[in-house]
This record gives sequence, structure tokens and C-alpha cells, in this order.
Amino acid sequence: MKSFYLHTFGCQMNEYDSERIAQGLLDAGWQVSPDAEGADLLLLNTCTVRQLAEQKAFSLLGRWIALKRRRPEVVIGMVGCLAQHLAQDAFKRAPEIDFIAGPRALTRIPELAEKAGRFRHGAEIGDSGYGHGVTTPVFHGWQARVAVMEGCNQFCAYCAVPHARGREMSRPVEDILQEVEKRLMSGAREIMLLGQNVNHYGFDLGKEMDFAELLRQVAQLPGVSRIRFMTSHPKDFSPRLIKALAEIPHVCQALHLPLQSGADAVLSAMRRGYTLAAYRDLVERLRAAVPGIGLSTDLIVGFPGETEEDFQATVQAVRDLNFDMAYCFKFSPRQGTVAATLPGAVFPDVREKRLGELLENIRQAAVASQAGHVGKREKVLVEEMDPSRTGHVKGRTPINHWVSFPGPESWLGTEVPVNITAAYPGGLLGEPETK
Ligand code: SAH
Ligand code: SF4
Repeated sequence: MKSFYLHTFGCQMNEYDSERIAQGLLDAGWQVSPDAEGADLLLLNTCTVRQLAEQKAFSLLGRWIALKRRRPEVVIGMVGCLAQHLAQDAFKRAPEIDFIAGPRALTRIPELAEKAGRFRHGAEIGDSGYGHGVTTPVFHGWQARVAVMEGCNQFCAYCAVPHARGREMSRPVEDILQEVEKRLMSGAREIMLLGQNVNHYGFDLGKEMDFAELLRQVAQLPGVSRIRFMTSHPKDFSPRLIKALAEIPHVCQALHLPLQSGADAVLSAMRRGYTLAAYRDLVERLRAAVPGIGLSTDLIVGFPGETEEDFQATVQAVRDLNFDMAYCFKFSPRQGTVAATLPGAVFPDVREKRLGELLENIRQAAVASQAGHVGKREKVLVEEMDPSRTGHVKGRTPINHWVSFPGPESWLGTEVPVNITAAYPGGLLGEPETK
């Protein structure tokens, strides 16, 4: 039996895509190889969001090409966002690649892999119906990801995603519910609903369907303990969705709400469609409707034209908004995006300095957020035995803080109420309430 080895770069959506690719290959009779050395098919699921992800993909590819020199029968496939983005240029940059497949052509991979030995340089980057149908999932753990939509219509000035993943397309509700049910039946307890802009879910499905309604339907499925979702665009956050967050049991009272910058001039150049004041207003409404709601965000430093004053506005926003967690990226120009052609590039050393300063502020915010939970009671979904504390289990709170506390293996996959007793770098400690 032929075997494949699959390496994934990038976001949760790519991880999810990889699960579907793997399942497609298993269904077609392939088996998983534990390493690249022994595999017949090497697959690279790529990301194009930043230059670094592209460099990492080509560096791993370099190692696989060396392997192919020793074993020429090995088939190499580059799939996902970068494959779509580079299209035929991928073959020019690395002629050893046998085939490429874009994010909407992943169902074609078994066929492309099969043909690769005979016809080198197969390419499928169009839409071959990937977004349709339901996968039979393999059990990966207590969490399961389920995509609710593909693509993005926003075209933020810096972002390669709409170019690589195409326009938005909502998956039919029945497909999503069926896939969630299968995940629950195979043991998952926490469902992460994925999309580039989930708040926009349903715009192409008629008046009755929106993301708030989808959440209500998913929450009714038996066996679901927790529902998370990402990503929410601040521009499209409806009052209905705020209400849904406050009302629906199982929906984690935690949000990932990318701000990107604290300066209105930069937000406008990024084409984000909101001001800092509008973002603050949304956060206030969310905190009023859902007291204690957790908030995480994404920020970019060094966007073209970003002045020191603009950057300080971002630092101030981080100080004021009390994020529980923030992810910070240096601007990376991506071919084909508006921002790649904008004047006012920020020098690399300035970008580096700003990143450092912002990360320090983010670290302080995260420490404060953790410390703020000491003395509180949190529900923890137990995910594993704590490898560094004998007799302890480990799991996450609704806002994704890790908590370690004494408990037996039989608690794995259940939600346990825990009194938080202390914070340490990277997590919390607690004592379980008697279950
Ligand atoms: N759809 C999601 C995820 C987009 S990619 C969203 O809208 O948030 C994840 C994050 O990568 C973005 O939020 C942004 O902060 C960052 N990012 C995207 N393109 C980038 C670029 N060209 N340079 C630096 N960071 C980028
Ligand atoms: Fe990219 Fe903006 Fe779409 Fe997010 S919303 S994927 S940042 S274009």
C-alpha cells in the first residue's frame, strides 16, 4: 500500500484542510507514513500570509528535493494557498514538484498524486467543488475544527488570503451540522467553527440564515460542550450575534477580534472599514452584554506609512483595551495586494523595534489577564494529563487559559469547575470543585 506524509504550514483553516486532504487519501486507499523518509507521496500544505511562511515552505521543500534525488520515484505535491498564489511559477522555482493543487481543488489530490508518476507537473487550481460535501473525520482529540465558509470578500490591503482562497462561499447548514455531529460522535467535545470572516456567514444563503442562527443550531446538537469560532471581523459584528453570544449555552464567551492597528489613518489605508472609536464601541457593547468576555486580537506593525505616532496609538490601544491575548506581526508585503505597492515602507530596524515594544505591552496585558483570574471559578475542559505535574490534569478555560489541577484520567474530555489559586508564566493552577 502506498503511503503519504503531509506537512502543514499556517492557520487553523490550513490544519482543517489537511485533515480533509488526509481523509481523502485514506479513502482512496493510501496510508499515513510516520516520516518523510519512507513515504511515497510528500505533501506540503502551504501558507501565503507572510513571506516567512513562504521561505519555510521552500526550505522544507529543499530537504524533500534532496530526498527525491536519492529516491526519484517519490512524488512531491505543493498544495494550499501558496500553490494557488504561485500557480505555474511553482514549477519554475522547483521543477522537482510533481503537482500543485489550490485550496479549492483539494479533493483532486488523490487523482493528481496517482497520475503524477506518469504526467509530471499536474496542476489544479480552480474550484473543483471542495467546499461541498462532508468529510468523514478521523478522531484527533477533544477539539474539532469545522469550516463554515471558504474564501474572503474583504480585500484588506495587506492580505493575500482573498487572492489565494477566492471569494466567500458559505457551506450549506446541513453539511456543517452533519460534520459537527460526526465529530461529536467520534469523541470531540469542543467545536471550533472556522472562516475568514464568520460574521458574514450566510450572506449567500438567503434571509433566514446568519452566523447567530448557525450557532443556535450547532448548540442544539447532543454532546457538544463548547463552541468556539474564528475569525470575526469587527466591521460585521451584528447586534444579533452579540445577543447570541450572551444567550447560547456552550458558546465560549471569548472572541478573537483582530484590531490590526490603533491609528485611524492606518486602519483606513488597510481598508479595514472601521475606526478605533467604532472598535472600542463594539468592545464596550460586547463587555456590557457578556460580562467577563475574553478578548484576543491580531496587530500588524510597520504597515506602509505607519508613523511613530500611529504606532504609539496601537500601543495605547493595547493598554486601554485589556486584551487577554494578542498576536503581533511585522508587515510583510505580499505580491498582488494593494499594500505591496504603497509608498512609505517602514525600515526593517524600525519594524523590529516596534515589534519588540508592542510584544512587551502584550506580554504585560497577558500577565494581567491571567492574574485577574486568580480567586475565580472557571470551567475547564480537561484535555490531557499534565506531563510536568504528577497526578494533575490540564485543560483550557473558555478564554483559552491553560489550567493545571489535581485530577484523575477519567476526567479527560469532561468540563470540570475549578477554583483558580495561582498564576505562573504560561498558565494557571487550581483546585477542582468536587464533581
Ligand atoms: N481572516 C482572518 C485571518 C487573516 S490572516 C482575519 O481577518 O483576521 C491572520 C492575521 O495575519 C491577520 O489578522 C493579520 O494580522 C496578519 N496578516 C495578514 N496579512 C499580513 C501581512 N501581509 N503582513 C503581516 N501580517 C499579516
Ligand atoms: Fe485577509 Fe482581511 Fe479577509 Fe481577514 S478579512 S482574510 S485579513 S482580507
